[in-house]
Amino acid sequence: MTTCCGTGGMTGRGTGQGTALRGDDTKGCILCGGMKHELVSERDRHGGLLCTRLCAGCGLIRNDPVPTEPELDAFYASAYRESYKGASVPRRRQVWRNFDRTKRHMLTYRDVYGQGGRWLDLGSGSGEFLYLARAMGAEVEGVEPHEGYCLYSRDTLGLPVRRATLDSSGYDPGSFDLIRLSHVLEHMRDPLRTLIQLRAWLRPGGVLYVEVPDIAEEARNRLRGRLFHYGHINNFDPVTLRALAGAAGLVELGRTKQRAAQTTGLFLTAGATLVPDAAALARNAVTMRAIMADHAKALLPRPPKGTVIGRFVGRVHERLREAVTASRFRCHRAIAEDAAQSLQASLNAPLAA
Ligand SMILES: [Zn+2]
Repeated sequence: MTTCCGTGGMTGRGTGQGTALRGDDTKGCILCGGMKHELVSERDRHGGLLCTRLCAGCGLIRNDPVPTEPELDAFYASAYRESYKGASVPRRRQVWRNFDRTKRHMLTYRDVYGQGGRWLDLGSGSGEFLYLARAMGAEVEGVEPHEGYCLYSRDTLGLPVRRATLDSSGYDPGSFDLIRLSHVLEHMRDPLRTLIQLRAWLRPGGVLYVEVPDIAEEARNRLRGRLFHYGHINNFDPVTLRALAGAAGLVELGRTKQRAAQTTGLFLTAGATLVPDAAALARNAVTMRAIMADHAKALLPRPPKGTVIGRFVGRVHERLREAVTASRFRCHRAIAEDAAQSLQASLNAPLAA
């Protein structure tokens, strides 16, 4: 295995200049088994050294080298200290936004979330999904590695969340009707093994919701060089995520397939294990290569709507709106209760024609 940018990776920040980049001598791709990789970036989004390669066989984009478990543990311990500075309570504006987004997502897929049963949120963060899931009648539990968010979820929102990692959480096969894995899979060293493990935890007919950032979308919308992150080991697009799910014996739910077609948010259930379609993956590699080349060339991202300045103004306006709305609530718990009531009212209302 190459060691090309490895020394700068641990902290996500650069340690200096002049690290030599070596050739394509990485291990075989976790998705297609291919050995041909192309370097797409030598820097992370903070400007630190980070080597990222695109697989010529499928388009999966992966950090290289893949960090070891002890390296990841050290990174998260350090990153959390840096990022949170001891703070364990999210800002009120963030809480309102998270509840609003989660509520809209649950209403969009009310046919899935309306089924009840025993649900698990892996990487439950500040607990919005679990709070609303409980309001919908599900029996919920959460697993969250971050101590501050774990305590916040328990103490402020009254949720059954325990501090653990996915690997250490250890559930019996067939334990859950629904498992949510949102913005977690991209952090895993072996995402195929993770999906196979979660498939086993599902009850017959159970649903796994997996959501990851879409690297193709981010490459179009982010500034040049602002893509990669030490903690995001695998960078998926809609094609590679679906192929990985198929290889793990997970198929998309028929009733959500159309709605989620362009996204990297999939509702999956246990099915036959699929051998990835090599020709389709090879076409995806060509597409992803072109997207990465465009990203590397572009001085500014190409927003899907409006101009760059217009989008910036829109974002500022949105943040102000969130802050003003959130300030009307006396505390975090009041935001949670309001979101839960609003969700229940929407569920009880007749569907629009
Ligand atoms: Zn591949």
